[in-house]
Amino acid sequence: MILVTRPFLPPVEEYKKYIDSIWDRQWLTNMGPLANELEDQLKIYLNVQNLHFVTNGTIALQMAIRALDLKGEIITTPFSFVATTSSIVWEGCTPVFVDIDPESLNIDASKIEEAITDMTSAILATHVYGNPCDVRAIEVIAKKHNLKVIYDGAHAFGVEVDGKSIFEYGDIATCSLHATKLYHSIEGGLVICKDDVINKKLAFIRNFGFNGPVNFAELGLNGKNSEFHAAMGLANLKYIDMIHEHRKVLTHSYDERLKDVGARRPIWHSAAKNNFAYYPLIFKSERDMMSTMEYLTAHNVHTRRYFYPSLAMSLPYVEHKNLEITDDISKKVLCLPLYYDLTLQQLDNICELIVNRNIYGV
Ligand SMILES: *Cc1c(COP(=O)(O)O)cnc(C)c1O
Repeated sequence: MILVTRPFLPPVEEYKKYIDSIWDRQWLTNMGPLANELEDQLKIYLNVQNLHFVTNGTIALQMAIRALDLKGEIITTPFSFVATTSSIVWEGCTPVFVDIDPESLNIDASKIEEAITDMTSAILATHVYGNPCDVRAIEVIAKKHNLKVIYDGAHAFGVEVDGKSIFEYGDIATCSLHATKLYHSIEGGLVICKDDVINKKLAFIRNFGFNGPVNFAELGLNGKNSEFHAAMGLANLKYIDMIHEHRKVLTHSYDERLKDVGARRPIWHSAAKNNFAYYPLIFKSERDMMSTMEYLTAHNVHTRRYFYPSLAMSLPYVEHKNLEITDDISKKVLCLPLYYDLTLQQLDNICELIVNRNIYGV
């Protein structure tokens, strides 16, 4: 059976070495030495000034909304994982959905201004599949209307725009280090903020708002991550270039093998490279997509409708809203298996199934 994704696991001895060091120190969590080391290494790897290692990518979003003190309406994308919208609602704000661009599948920057009201405080956009949003256009709009910008970079680990980390765009960027993501620490997340004042606030928020043992600076939560998770992050970081390289080979092989099956790929930001986090295909119709998915499932190849359904049409806690492009694309998109342990032989078999289904119209 082939699943849509499989977490990368480092050689167990390498993980154990870190675990032994935890036993020696008996320091299990609360900004321990491994968590600090991971933050230092990630700052270098990602080339960012500030970064907080937190419990997960959802808490990272909630911390970002809190740190910027957002109120009222937040303009966001309906084509994302549920956490992008649920964090907005969880923090007492109202999501206002703006349709996506049919090529990049990111929020359509040209439609943001018409959604701005007196209540709008921010834009929260996702770099879908690691493909950067139109960060320049969004920055211009945000400046003009005095709005904050948060980027959900859960998929965007290691992506650069014009040679600068994607996480340096916006007031705050977040990332998820969940086991299903490109790079992971089992559970984990990152909050990245260039502004030193907000960055300090994020540090307080992560640790219950404590400012010293008997003082409080902020309303906080528990966003700290453990030494065990940091250990996995450290062990995996040594393999990130290798993981990236293999995913690149697989992606190019999919591109080559599937170029004639009548499905298209998202168009990438012109100043950024793919990080090969996912392999989405947009079919001509929902029927086409469904028959491909069912045919693959019948042959034990598991794919995922990522993202379906539209967040603007499916959440019981937000008013439903039709959005032409999102409604259309979310019905036709399918992510194919892509992970480090996937072999070229397995990929060949998957492609053969898709191509055959296409030829014979199974
Ligand atoms: C995975 C994901 C999240 C949530 O991250 P967790 O670490 O699982 O909490 C948020 N947004 C997007 C776009 C995601 O894919």
